[in-house]
Amino acid sequence: MPSTDAPTRPHRYAELTWPQVADRAGEAPVCVIQEATLEDHGYHLPIDTDVLIAETLAERAVLARSDRALLLPTVTHGYTPHHMDFPGSITIDWKRFVDYLLDIGKSLIHHGFRRILFVNGHGSNVPLVEMAARLLMLERRDVLAATFWYLSTPESAELLARTRDSDQPGGMAHACELETSLYLAIRPELVQMERAVREIPDWDSDTVWMDWNDGPLSLKGQWSGWTESGVIGDATVATAEKGRLWLERAVAETAEHIDELARRAPRPGRDHHDGAGDALQTREGTR
Ligand SMILES: [Zn+2]
Repeated sequence: MPSTDAPTRPHRYAELTWPQVADRAGEAPVCVIQEATLEDHGYHLPIDTDVLIAETLAERAVLARSDRALLLPTVTHGYTPHHMDFPGSITIDWKRFVDYLLDIGKSLIHHGFRRILFVNGHGSNVPLVEMAARLLMLERRDVLAATFWYLSTPESAELLARTRDSDQPGGMAHACELETSLYLAIRPELVQMERAVREIPDWDSDTVWMDWNDGPLSLKGQWSGWTESGVIGDATVATAEKGRLWLERAVAETAEHIDELARRAPRPGRDHHDGAGDALQTREGTR
């Protein structure tokens, strides 16, 4: 039956049938996998803050690029042992988390997908997601797998520096001006702004601090050693208006990363061992 509306293209991987999955794999789309964690975000934000932000970025970016991207289900739980002093946090062993992401990626590769973008909403997942992406590119030489920390491109950093109201460094680290503003822009009814606080540690250092991008010397330890409320930053200056501005930029940035992965050709390299090195690569790849 003729219709004036073009059929809506499914953008969620899980909602495809298996023949549709096979068809889409042939189009070489970017598979977008968002991961986060459940953990304390002050007295005022739900523990799902990182999940909500990562899901929103990923889904809006995929919708803007439905011709070249597919949205995988969210990996809700991540690595957060340093937050276990706060009720609600759920942590996954770091090696298990890397292996879990790796297994998802390997499954996609098995079905013919070759481009994977991890959209991560939780700072302490960063090195682990990067490791999973690296390992996937070593699985097969024709795979592209990448990740990024949102709102960290030069353009995004400039926007944050120009529009933030909190002190630097420290105003934008966790459950802060930034995360609270984003939550206010997405689900304001769940934010208890009357309970928002400003809590910034006395860094007493030129190299150790936390902000949207941390200081050059990485020193972490127990989260409760840095903050009483769970907040590191200034949640009291958060607004939905700033949240909408930053969310729009973060979605655009995520869509640009999809474009980058979609247009790139793999750089498979060349084995210089005349055959002997292939065996090594296979052993590593099937470990
Ligand atoms: Zn967070």
